[in-house]
Parts: sequence; C-alpha cells; structure tokens
Amino acid sequence: MTSERTLSIIKPDAVAKNVIGEILARFERAGLRIVAAKMVHLGQQEAESFYAVHRERPFFNDLVGFMTSGPIMVQVLEGEQAIRKNREIMGETNPQEASAGSIRHDFAENIDANAVHGSDSPETAKQEIEFFFKADEICSR
Ligand code: UDP
Repeated sequence: MTSERTLSIIKPDAVAKNVIGEILARFERAGLRIVAAKMVHLGQQEAESFYAVHRERPFFNDLVGFMTSGPIMVQVLEGEQAIRKNREIMGETNPQEASAGSIRHDFAENIDANAVHGSDSPETAKQEIEFFFKADEICSR
C-alpha cells in the first residue's frame, strides 16, 4: 500500500478549547505523521474560497463566519490511507452521530462547530493541501 497525504484543520472552537495537543496526539497514535503545520486566522475571502464547494448550501454564510471567528491550526497528515483514517478519527459531521472516542464525539458541540476538518478524497486532499502549503513547507522523512 502507498502512503498518502490529507489536509486536517483544527477549527476555531477546538483551538478556543485548548485541545490542539490532544487532537494532534490522536493522529499520531493512529500512525499518521504530521509533515506540515501552522496556525492561521482566515479572512473572509480565504474562508469563502476554501469552502467554495458549499457556496450554495444554506449553512455557507454561518460556516464562513465560524471559520473566520478565531485562529485555526492546519496540518498535513501523511500515512497509509491517511484520508480514510483521518475521517474515522474525526467521526461523523454531526457530533451527535459520531462514534464514542472520535474527535467530534469528544470535543465538538454541534454540526456547525464540529472541531475538525479533513479532506474527503485524494482530489480534494491535493487541492486543500495546496491551498495552505507550498511544496517546500511539507517535510516528509
Ligand atoms: N456544516 C454545517 N451545517 C450543516 C452541514 C455542514 O455547518 O448542516 C459545516 C460543518 O462545519 C461541516 C462543513 O460544513 O464540517 C462541511 O460539511 P461536510 O458535509 O463536507 O462535512 P465534513 O466533511 O466536514 O464532515
């Protein structure tokens, strides 16, 4: 099997709760490596552009408002099946449906403020990683 990369975001609610370290530790415990990371505070246009695929959805404005409400931590995770593994560790979009022990079950309040983001396919992973990181900011072993 080949290693792949995915983009992970610790959203403003989880940063405000001071659980960055606890969330990153879960990725590491699952065998994923953090090969790039930084904190950013998204502006309105950046958030709109990142979530452009959801532009027509009723929650779009609230989502952009939430994602610009405070700093976020973005990281590239690398490992076998990193995309699927990350999404398992995250849990369902709605924390009320997320399995016990998942990040969203343990740290998220509701479907709007749901602690983390993770790419959902190889195509979006590539696009989302390039949105936040230049090639030379990613440090594989
Ligand atoms: N979202 C929301 N309300 C909804 C559905 C989604 O605020 O009813 C937000 C939520 O933050 C979610 C993001 O939009 O994480 C992207 O939605 P998606 O369905 O892609 O879920 P994810 O891939 O994050 O699990």
